[in-house]
Amino acid sequence: MKGIVHVIGGGLAGSEAALAAARSGARVRLYEMRPAKMTPAHRTDRLAELVCSNSLGGEAETNAKGLLQAEMRVAGSAVMAAADATRVPAGGALAVDRELFSAGVTEAVAGHPGVEVVRREVAALPEDGVVVLATGPLTSEPLAAHLKARFGDPFLSYYDAAAPVVLFESIDMGTCYFAGRYDQSPDYINCPMDEARYRRFYQRLLEARRHQPHDWERLEFFEACVPIEELGRRGYRTLLFGPMKPVGLPDPKTGRIPFAVVQLRREDRAGRMWSLVGFQTGLKWGDQKELVRLIPGLERAEIVRYGVMHRNTYLNAPRMLEASLRFRAEPRVLAAGVLSGVEGYLESAATGWLAGWNAARALSGEPPVVPPEETMLGGLVRFLAGANPENFQPMNANWGLVPPVAVRGSKRERRQAMFRRGLAAFEAWLRRSGWALTPA
Ligand SMILES: Cc1cc2nc3c(=O)[nH]c(=O)nc-3n(C[C@H](O)[C@H](O)[C@H](O)COP(=O)(O)OP(=O)(O)OC[C@H]3O[C@@H](n4cnc5c(N)ncnc54)[C@H](O)[C@@H]3O)c2cc1C
Repeated sequence: MKGIVHVIGGGLAGSEAALAAARSGARVRLYEMRPAKMTPAHRTDRLAELVCSNSLGGEAETNAKGLLQAEMRVAGSAVMAAADATRVPAGGALAVDRELFSAGVTEAVAGHPGVEVVRREVAALPEDGVVVLATGPLTSEPLAAHLKARFGDPFLSYYDAAAPVVLFESIDMGTCYFAGRYDQSPDYINCPMDEARYRRFYQRLLEARRHQPHDWERLEFFEACVPIEELGRRGYRTLLFGPMKPVGLPDPKTGRIPFAVVQLRREDRAGRMWSLVGFQTGLKWGDQKELVRLIPGLERAEIVRYGVMHRNTYLNAPRMLEASLRFRAEPRVLAAGVLSGVEGYLESAATGWLAGWNAARALSGEPPVVPPEETMLGGLVRFLAGANPENFQPMNANWGLVPPVAVRGSKRERRQAMFRRGLAAFEAWLRRSGWALTPA
């Protein structure tokens, strides 16, 4: 195979990408700027350092992260191999000894004869070979400025101001209704509130606890994306003139304008995931759940992504990327990890694996591959490429990413059926696409 794959960033995504490309026969150069230049969150010079929690998520067959873990295991993922070798007891979750885990990944990457690890900061895209960009949420400033200049200002975000996202199947459409303000676009789901419910919601909002960000994570709020808890602090009626404005949204059941309305907007084309409009929040997750469930029609809402307000660096994936993780504008460049628009350690590693494999395929002139839509990785990368590009926010593994199954039964049984269907589809796809199931 001629040429080289440059992988920029030796985190979860970059480590996995480097090994996937090398195992496919490519010569790989992996650039990591630590320890010469540290990020505000990393503490060591190891590859794949876990910057916060030591958990890669729940393992059960009912858990969306569990399916992604299972897919990565059959793909021979280096991150999963290190996680399995260094796990610590954590109930139903896959938690690891973080020191041993990153030492294991570092050894696997640096020990592969096809990978050269270069310890330096990259400030601009290499102009030769194929490039995998995996510099993560704390991409260094010179490279971020270069990407901005190359691909355009609106395509790179420096912070998340995300609202909770809920599964459509968990919304009570007997209470909520489709309508657009003044009938302009009946594309929104509306949850009507009377004053008593609003007061209860407002009081709970004032009591809710905020996530305490590190100093470097703190954001200056733009007036257009002030978190809901901050709007609440400004006064009892402030929300009624902002995200809970009822004007132009009469409830078809009564014909009257409710006291307050919470609107939900579609996140994906299939309409399986809906986000609460204007509800960006940095509240603790338990408090978010309680608050969301105080909204009429959302009493049983299943939140698949919680709101966050923090510093982050990520691309507007639906504008920039194909589902194969190649840049539409420059197909020899691929993105992976948080920079590509995913959230989470496992999701970062999984997109790294796909980008690494597709990078090696590009070197040998083969077309890129994308896992089937029933698989968690397939659902995730299809979401990246096909999500609503307006106000795009990063996404983690969740059941809204894959089509439902036509199985009657409890939620648990349906999820187990989705798990088995996804894993079988992933294995069959790996075989069809020519990936060695037990890579060296
Ligand atoms: C503070 C914080 C806490 C988080 N906590 C969790 C959590 O608990 N659980 C979870 O699942 N997810 C968490 N995340 C989100 C995400 O899963 C992790 O950030 C994950 O590490 C992302 O993987 P990555 O490979 O995309 O980026 P990273 O793992 O951050 O790897 C990127 C690498 O690129 C290097 N780099 C950056 N710029 C350059 C450059 N110009 N040249 C060379 N190298 C460069 C960095 O040093 C880093 O090693 C957290 C994120 C942050 C910021």
